[in-house]
Amino acid sequence: MRKLTCIICPNGCALLAEQTDDGILVSGNRCPRGEEFAVSELTHPMRTIAGTVRTIFPEMPVAPVRVSAEIPKERIFDVMRQINAAVIETHMSRGDVVIADVLGLGVDVIVTGDVK
Ligand code: SF4
Repeated sequence: MRKLTCIICPNGCALLAEQTDDGILVSGNRCPRGEEFAVSELTHPMRTIAGTVRTIFPEMPVAPVRVSAEIPKERIFDVMRQINAAVIETHMSRGDVVIADVLGLGVDVIVTGDVK
């Protein structure tokens, strides 16, 4: 039995998830998305992450970034290391790719604001 807090919406339902012979039983969810979240958490948890990347521009020394889609939870620190090592050397617009296909995960790191 695992206690989880659903992070899909602001309701933050308190979930109980239990692995049984018939599969994973979930309770406490107010909607089906909570069940999907709990099953994902027990089988293959995913997360989205955001951070900042250094730039060469003194007027904007760091730029906000995020991943373009969820990544496996166990790879968060690996991706953060890539983000921390990156440096933006050209002007960019919101949504431009800073790191393409980071670590071969099929997800890009993109800027969430203009870098001018
Ligand atoms: S179970 Fe549904 S209502 Fe509850 S927090 Fe998750 S998404 Fe929101």
